[in-house]
Amino acid sequence: APASPPAQHLFSDPAEIEALRANLLAWYDKCKRDLPWRTLAATEPDADRRGYAVWVSEIMLQQTQVATVIDYYNRWMQKWPTLKALAQASLEEVNELWAGLGYYSRGKRLQEAARKVVSELAGRMPRTAEDLQKLLAGVGRYTAGAIASISYGQATGVVDGNVIRVLCRLRCIGADSSSPAVIDQLWDMANALVDRSRPGDFNQALMELGATVCVPKAPLCRECPVKQHCRAWRRKLFGKPNSVPDVEDCGAGVCPLCPPATEPWDSSLGVTNFPRKGAKKQPRVVRTATCVLERRGCHGAPEYLIVQRPSSGLLAGLWEFPSFPLAQGLQEKQQREALADHLQAWTGQSVAAGGLRFIGEVVHIFSHIHQTYVVYSLPLDGGITLDPASSPSRWVTEEEFHASAVSTAMKKV
Ligand code: SF4
Repeated sequence: APASPPAQHLFSDPAEIEALRANLLAWYDKCKRDLPWRTLAATEPDADRRGYAVWVSEIMLQQTQVATVIDYYNRWMQKWPTLKALAQASLEEVNELWAGLGYYSRGKRLQEAARKVVSELAGRMPRTAEDLQKLLAGVGRYTAGAIASISYGQATGVVDGNVIRVLCRLRCIGADSSSPAVIDQLWDMANALVDRSRPGDFNQALMELGATVCVPKAPLCRECPVKQHCRAWRRKLFGKPNSVPDVEDCGAGVCPLCPPATEPWDSSLGVTNFPRKGAKKQPRVVRTATCVLERRGCHGAPEYLIVQRPSSGLLAGLWEFPSFPLAQGLQEKQQREALADHLQAWTGQSVAAGGLRFIGEVVHIFSHIHQTYVVYSLPLDGGITLDPASSPSRWVTEEEFHASAVSTAMKKV
């Protein structure tokens, strides 16, 4: 059986928990950022609309910075202010608005789940974290907790990257913060800490603290509203504190929440000793040949051919310049020939490798893929006829290209 964590990693004193809640909420009331979804959640009287507004923001904020999300969020809520409006949108419209935000399956699943709420749940959002997670595709434990606490006042905690960092520092948790044992412990802690009368504000405050004060590299500990509850801060100030048992007292190598015995506290890092992550998986390296086919449109302006990606997998349903995977280690000449072969097979017309002009390389990092696009252009005298059985394709002007559902990587190309 796993060893149970020693008390110094937990919150067990009710008076301390009360004080931490009060300090954090007072700080939040004074310092919170003004964000459109917060205003909506605080002012919208209709519970379903409130839930929808928070849901959209939470999905957009997954893996995307607040500053980027604001504009997308405002445009989205203007276009689809209700679940019903979103349920009636087409996937193409959703992809067009989502273009540039990344992780496109998020928008698709959001819309699918909105359709489900309208058609199967009579337009009524589930009201608890458990039901939200069970009934809505794309809503995981964190998102469910955020919607339920912020929109419906359920006293349930949340754990995201910011919360992980804050809690690991508050309680000197140095074991791999992505391990299931640590994550489970953090969820228990978040559920125990959440303020019973203001759960939504408390959760947002904890995340806000992680986003603005307890930041990854240079946390602003002196300004921190919960520094008196922070064991990492105390340890930085006083070294091994006498009032708090030291990590060694947990029994190195035995405690499930301490740093591994091989990587003890490093005093040059201070509070940023926490959290710690296990070794990151190396991203897959992929090379893709991309060809910008260009022709003169009817008014003489250049037009470019774009094709639609399959409806599942990476960048599902998005449009791109014709692209083909390349084997590793090919020389430039071989790449050009491989691309010409692909284009020939695809269009059924002969394509001379010499006609392809090498433009350059574009690197784009997806979460798990290190992708290099090797970009060529090919000017055409006339159009080309594509087999209607292959992917959908269309010719677009530069302006139309930018208004289409294309990824950021293709815009770079
Ligand atoms: Fe984070 Fe520093 Fe505050 Fe501790 S005192 S919670 S490390 S900002």
